[in-house]
Amino acid sequence: MSVVVHPIAAPWGRFALYSFLIDGPELAIVDTGVTASAAGIPAELERLGRRIEDVRWILLTHGHIDHVGGAHALWEATGRRAEVVISATDAPFLRSRRAHVDEALALRGAYVDAAALEAAKTAEALDAISGELEPTRTVDDGDVLDLGGIEVRVVAVPGHTQGAVAYVVDGHVFVGDAVQGYGAASGFPGYEDPDAYRASLEKVLALEPRHLYLGHPYRRADGTPFPVDLDEAGAREALQTSLDREAQVRTAVTAIAPAESASAYSPFERVAHELGYAGDPTLEPSPFFTTLHGYTQEARHV
Ligand SMILES: [Zn+2]
Repeated sequence: MSVVVHPIAAPWGRFALYSFLIDGPELAIVDTGVTASAAGIPAELERLGRRIEDVRWILLTHGHIDHVGGAHALWEATGRRAEVVISATDAPFLRSRRAHVDEALALRGAYVDAAALEAAKTAEALDAISGELEPTRTVDDGDVLDLGGIEVRVVAVPGHTQGAVAYVVDGHVFVGDAVQGYGAASGFPGYEDPDAYRASLEKVLALEPRHLYLGHPYRRADGTPFPVDLDEAGAREALQTSLDREAQVRTAVTAIAPAESASAYSPFERVAHELGYAGDPTLEPSPFFTTLHGYTQEARHV
């Protein structure tokens, strides 16, 4: 039995968010956008000849606000009948708005105005998360879900977040944000754990995806975006581009010690320069600070 996959675009401010409908014996939605973008999903399904009431699965790739924010609203729209699935590690971000604030402070609070960050994230969590929700199922690497005779395999792809997972069905691989290229709207690849991110890219490459689905239109070296639904050759290119960029970031961070300066990029001003990154590092979710913070944590373990 095979499935058909439909990308569902759900814009949020300057961000292009994507959910995906897995159209098989039991309908599944991968990732939910935020409150506002999820509100448009039932109409998108209708356009495809499907009904939100018939969706049986809400599969969440990771706990970030732009992937889980709409989950409560969509779960309600299914008559509370859909299974809501997320890794046990990232489940706190589905259960609690405050978890998003604490995470931002832990990863980036040292590099920006922490009080302003806390206030902004608190307001964002209220607006963008449609409700705090207990998952009906938590999953881990190797678990298999049965979508009415279609097997969906769970593959752990930590790095972007600690609990990120990919869902693999019939050659289709949904990676959420685990494949970053040169980053999306913010122009910098975002991952909390660089070693794990790299290992997960290698792992997805080894899966040899026939189709690879990205959570956002991540960019190539020349700034052009990858499509969010990639064929086999496109998948290999996006994965290799991501590995290459990670290696460049790692080389720069290893060569240049952090140094406080008056720059907004402080203490990574020279790293930003070396990597040609001229974006605003304070714009949330600030992959620049999240990622570089990750390397400093790894250096501490050496
Ligand atoms: Zn993410």
